[in-house]
Amino acid sequence: MTQVCIHWFRKGLRLHDNPALIAALEDCKELYPVFILDPYLHNTQVGINRRRFLIGALKDLDCSLRKLNSRLFVLRGKPEDVFLKLFKEWKVRKLTYEYDTEPYSLNRDEKVTSLAGKHAVEVIYKISHTLYNIERIIEENGGKPPLTYKRFQAIVQKLGPPKKPISAPHLENMKDVKTPCSEKFEEKYGIPTPEELGLESTSLGEELFPGGEQEALRRLDEHMKKTAWVCSFEKPQTSPNSLSPSTTVLSPYITFGCLSASTFWWRLTEVYQGRKHSDPPVSLHGQLLWREFFYTGSVGINNFNKMEGNPVCIQVDWDTNPEYSAAWREARTGFPFIDAIMTQLRQEGWIHHLARHAVACFLTRGDLWISWEEGQKVFEELLLDGDWALNAGNWQWLSASAFFHQFFRVYSPIAFGKKTDKNGDYIKKYLPVLKKFPPEYIYEPWKAPRCVQHAAGCIVGKDYPHPIVQHEQVSKKNIQRMKEAYAKRSSNSNESPIKEQGVKRKALSVSEMPQKKIRKE
Ligand code: FAD
Repeated sequence: MTQVCIHWFRKGLRLHDNPALIAALEDCKELYPVFILDPYLHNTQVGINRRRFLIGALKDLDCSLRKLNSRLFVLRGKPEDVFLKLFKEWKVRKLTYEYDTEPYSLNRDEKVTSLAGKHAVEVIYKISHTLYNIERIIEENGGKPPLTYKRFQAIVQKLGPPKKPISAPHLENMKDVKTPCSEKFEEKYGIPTPEELGLESTSLGEELFPGGEQEALRRLDEHMKKTAWVCSFEKPQTSPNSLSPSTTVLSPYITFGCLSASTFWWRLTEVYQGRKHSDPPVSLHGQLLWREFFYTGSVGINNFNKMEGNPVCIQVDWDTNPEYSAAWREARTGFPFIDAIMTQLRQEGWIHHLARHAVACFLTRGDLWISWEEGQKVFEELLLDGDWALNAGNWQWLSASAFFHQFFRVYSPIAFGKKTDKNGDYIKKYLPVLKKFPPEYIYEPWKAPRCVQHAAGCIVGKDYPHPIVQHEQVSKKNIQRMKEAYAKRSSNSNESPIKEQGVKRKALSVSEMPQKKIRKE
């Protein structure tokens, strides 16, 4: 009997290092590579840069599949509804996909798996979004996610290096496999147009980071050629406000799965081979381990993207202040460094890690005393690399709510940026209204004498806002408030969160059991 198989692309928008796709090709006569535009995930709440990136990634994937005499079928609707139709219409026998640990995805996959069971469709999923099987890390740590990087490193050292990536399928792998395409293919299954995803060309800026596996691999190659740079890479030494990125900007490609983390890892290993190189946590290997670290937390800690009900998160009495939230989001805080970063985020969809530090600290414990969950939402919308686990984990870190507890170390919205950009060229690029300010006032334009403001053609309070808060004062007050939140936590739990090593996990559900084949005869 003809073996009809669907490989379901969700993240993992690539052909290289895609074990689930290779599993799809085993005993397969008809292959349907499918992507589903899911109204829950792909809607206009997602920032325009990310929607454009997705279109690019899908086009690129389709192009690569065509070279294998196949095509990408893009369907629209709730996955369980789409599959109900497809299982019957295409007489599907096997469904493969990459394992995804996000709560929404687990829930979705459980529904689809159950539907597959009812239609005698075998389901196979493989782990390739992360370097490790996250469940194994938790298991190795006694059923709890490690809460410190050190502990995490010790566990992964025990597990050994990550699995090596596997090659993309070749024409040879496809010689007995067909992808049947109907005449009305474009109409029924075409890649979404910008209009379909609500993109207006007038609102889009230059496409600095085009989506797709080919661009991901090109970008990776470009960086890996810089041997000395790779070997001496230390994250804290990179700059938040250089005019071109001082780190790899591979994050959007890893988030969408255009690049596999394990391919990145092993390319780095090749570059390091026989050379003196930096080490985790600051090296590039170290960055990929940070990613695994937060993924482990996201799998093992309940309510990971929330303060309430999250057992590792300090409970803080954050203010509700729509005016402050909007000023931060819309780059109107009156602090040029903060506003420039938020402008770059909105225009380009990517900002440097330390720039994320600066604006996250400013919004939360540093200045505005707004919940990290608010910041998380804005990043989720605007970041090209918006990732459920990494966003939540890093916001907790920056707000000193979990993982990092030195709340008395506050970033200055003035001094921090000056360290790497005295002239304020970064500010001038993203806030052209300030471009004529002399360097001594560019970080604090409100301090410039009236004549300087006139000469710069920018009057503070009229052309650019006054600072929303007095940093020196509010940051001191906020440190005090953090101290109280920590004291409350200690008296409640009788234990400092710093000492905690983790929390016990809930029992696994069916779809949380990775690598397991689900068969229905
Ligand atoms: P590089 O320095 O070149 O690092 C290589 C890769 O390592 C990155 O592409 C990324 O996959 C991983 N990595 C690096 N730093 C971290 C980190 N701190 N945590 C986890 N993984 C890391 N990253 C996201 O990918 N998605 C997010 O939604 C996200 N939200 C964040 C929110 C806040 C408040 C903060 C402070 C950081 C956030 N990060 C997030 C982490 C980090 O800032 C980005 O991964 C990094 O800046 C991406 O740029 P890059 O690819 O040039 O990184």
